[in-house]
Amino acid sequence: MKVTIFGSGYVGLVTGTCFADAGNDVVCVDIDAERVAQLQNGEVPIYEPGLDDMLTFNQEEGRLRFTTDPAEGVNHGLFQFIAVGTPADEDGSADLHYVLNVAQTIGQHMDDYRIIVDKSTVPVGTADKVRSVVGQQLRERGSSLEFDVVSNPEFLKEGAAIDDFVKPDRIIVGVDNPRTAELMKALYSPFNRNHDRLISMDIRSAELTKYAANAMLATKISFMNELSNIAERLGADIERVRIGIGSDPRIGYHFIYPGCGFGGSCFPKDVQALAHTAQEYDYQPELLEAVQRVNRNQKDILMQRIREYFGDELQGRTFALWGLAFKPNTDDMREAPSRVLMEALWDAGAQVQAYDPEAMDEVERIYGERADLELCDNQYDALEDADALVVCTEWQVFRSPDFERIRQALRQPVIIDGRNVYTPSVMEAMGFTYYGIGRGESI
Ligand code: NAD
Repeated sequence: MKVTIFGSGYVGLVTGTCFADAGNDVVCVDIDAERVAQLQNGEVPIYEPGLDDMLTFNQEEGRLRFTTDPAEGVNHGLFQFIAVGTPADEDGSADLHYVLNVAQTIGQHMDDYRIIVDKSTVPVGTADKVRSVVGQQLRERGSSLEFDVVSNPEFLKEGAAIDDFVKPDRIIVGVDNPRTAELMKALYSPFNRNHDRLISMDIRSAELTKYAANAMLATKISFMNELSNIAERLGADIERVRIGIGSDPRIGYHFIYPGCGFGGSCFPKDVQALAHTAQEYDYQPELLEAVQRVNRNQKDILMQRIREYFGDELQGRTFALWGLAFKPNTDDMREAPSRVLMEALWDAGAQVQAYDPEAMDEVERIYGERADLELCDNQYDALEDADALVVCTEWQVFRSPDFERIRQALRQPVIIDGRNVYTPSVMEAMGFTYYGIGRGESI
């Protein structure tokens, strides 16, 4: 089948590559000329495990091409996927201008029937807006070409995106006619073989399903973070509590880890956008507001720990940060808790020595060169003459480090662990002053 994907970011690249890998003929369009040039040379501009090899293989086989030419993209695919960004607008709503620009482009160039598939996360009612923009363009051209609009939100997780795409838990397809439903089913059939995972529904429900999923996951995290703050004050250990409650199958062990707040390109903006939509429809979303408030406070927790130990005078102090990406196995720095901490440290006049296995280029792109940030070649270099180690992201490589080396490199043996990767009693036995999250009782 012929497929066009607008947007070559985390979602667009994975979607395009996986469709090509299943034998489809895929063209990816992006307006970022530098990104497209990189991709044409087989360089993948993001870090996503397994993507490099799969992308170059399909490119070499001639099933996957990259272009900045929108007309080439529109003329290619029966399926026109929209996988561009939907960042938060100033008022918290989803900024739809990238999505609607693509809709306009499709309307301007299409020369045959097209199925326009919205894969970006968009508020309920966006499919209607896409339909109206495309229709308007066609009318201006005096064209009576037919097209359909489908909502097909994406549920991949950065860091495990390929697996999530090729072995999805579910494929949500929002359609308003059986013919499009059948074509979507055919397109997804290579990823739907084991048992039927395609859930077909009306378009508005499909659009809301994506926000509901992210809001539920964000709620689980904020709930655990709130409980961790309570546990700490009560002299209880949230890690014990986590294991205790997860054993109830109605609760389960997934996604109930306390930490230093959720970040990334999805949860913060999607919870905010859903709350905004609710308010537009005269509903006050009390729980969603609380989820966001708890998260904002939780992102300050590492700085609070630092002030607790070192006091408010941080000028001249140096802090080693391990992990900068918003979670392990990605280079994505959007809304990462490490950014809140670094910026607070810089405001207080402190120095940061940081290491992340994949996100260093991205950090350099965001913050540029600055005297109070040293990006180190490895995790141990970051510790040299630092006052404390702060773990912001739980990369696997930080789980069993050489503690003796850490103790010797630091000015004083202080570890602030934003992800509870270490055990308090072990840390104390090794002579560290250790702060975790919600660990009121050392074990
Ligand atoms: P991204 O920022 O990584 O990539 C977006 C790309 O779209 C950029 O390369 C940009 O240059 C390009 N673009 C913008 N306007 C364009 C246009 N008119 N034509 C062609 N390309 C254009 O975004 P992302 O993380 O891939 O997210 C895309 C969408 O998918 C968002 O709505 C997001 O909420 C949703 N989503 C993201 C994830 C995730 O984990 N990143 C998961 C599920 C859903």
